[in-house]
Amino acid sequence: MTDVRESMYLVSEFAKEYFNNTLLNSEEGKAIGLSYFKERGFTNETIKKFSLGYSPETWDAFTKEALGKGYKLEFLESTGLTIAREDRPFDRFKGRVMFPIESMSGRVLGFGGRILTNDKKAAKYLNSPESDIYHKSKVLYGIFQAKQAIAKQNNCYLVEGYTDVIQFNQAGIENVVASSGTALTPDQIRLVNRLTRNITVLFDGDAAGLRASVRGIDLILEEGMNVRVCAFPDGEDPDSFARKNSHDELVAYLEENSKDFIQFKASLLMKDAKNDPIKKADLIRDMVASISKIPDRIQREVYIQECARIMDISEQVLTSTLAQLIQKDL
Ligand code: ATP
Ligand code: MN
Ligand code: MN
Ligand code: MN
Repeated sequence: MTDVRESMYLVSEFAKEYFNNTLLNSEEGKAIGLSYFKERGFTNETIKKFSLGYSPETWDAFTKEALGKGYKLEFLESTGLTIAREDRPFDRFKGRVMFPIESMSGRVLGFGGRILTNDKKAAKYLNSPESDIYHKSKVLYGIFQAKQAIAKQNNCYLVEGYTDVIQFNQAGIENVVASSGTALTPDQIRLVNRLTRNITVLFDGDAAGLRASVRGIDLILEEGMNVRVCAFPDGEDPDSFARKNSHDELVAYLEENSKDFIQFKASLLMKDAKNDPIKKADLIRDMVASISKIPDRIQREVYIQECARIMDISEQVLTSTLAQLIQKDL
């Protein structure tokens, strides 16, 4: 560990405590940040578990406090907590509620900050910039809180956002992590692979969520892992859905609607191409393309059989299509 990175970790840890303390104990934090979280239904216990926080609206309240405590401007800037300005450096996250992003071992790597207004011009979420300690393609939000439950349940729910992770935890489902706005990456999947071989993708019930699920499937298969998908009703995300339903309803929904990727893709077909042979053929090719990503030959064979059965097509045709695709990859 270099001194530079160690200093960046230390200032990030300080920031986490400062934002959390500001949320819970300052007048502004309580009136603005805490009431926002309460409106979203977050309990005190949840706020503590995820060390949620609030960054004051003042230009440089956090930066001043950190400098006063002896943290160096150099590290405030390299972590992105402070933005350089010749005369007056300022707080990147001012006026936002804060979500610390932690490593598998619980070190603070960076932050996500959400605006409280519905100002469509400002970015809803702002994240720490890439740095020597924060690589967004290599972290999963919530992994520290989730790791034991993932290993124990031998499954990991993968969601899109911070609040999805938090609301699931509050509903008693702890084996959940978020890719947090980046397109899912192989490094993120490998992080989960250290704990379980099973991922269930739970993306938002909108067009973007659907696209992300479809792309996620192939990446997860390429890592040799098992992937299931559970779609949410139109306009719902795991957070909003968990809030509207009891724990038992949520668990039942997940059980009833989680499908393996072949069934998931088949259900997409049922929606828009049932009686269209060309679309059906495209979708079958698409399924076989996904199957071709699976490294294990026997597993590929099992999925070919399932695909043949569900799509009512001969295994031979699928097997020869698969052989062509794998040939192309070599
Ligand atoms: P909320 O419920 O607070 O409105 P969300 O998590 O449902 O937020 P989405 O729009 O579904 O928000 O986005 C999913 C995730 O993508 C967010 O949690 C965040 O990590 C990331 N994200 C969203 N908008 C942005 C943005 N403008 N810049 C960076 N990341 C973003
Ligand atoms: Mn979304
Ligand atoms: Mn969402
Ligand atoms: Mn949401």
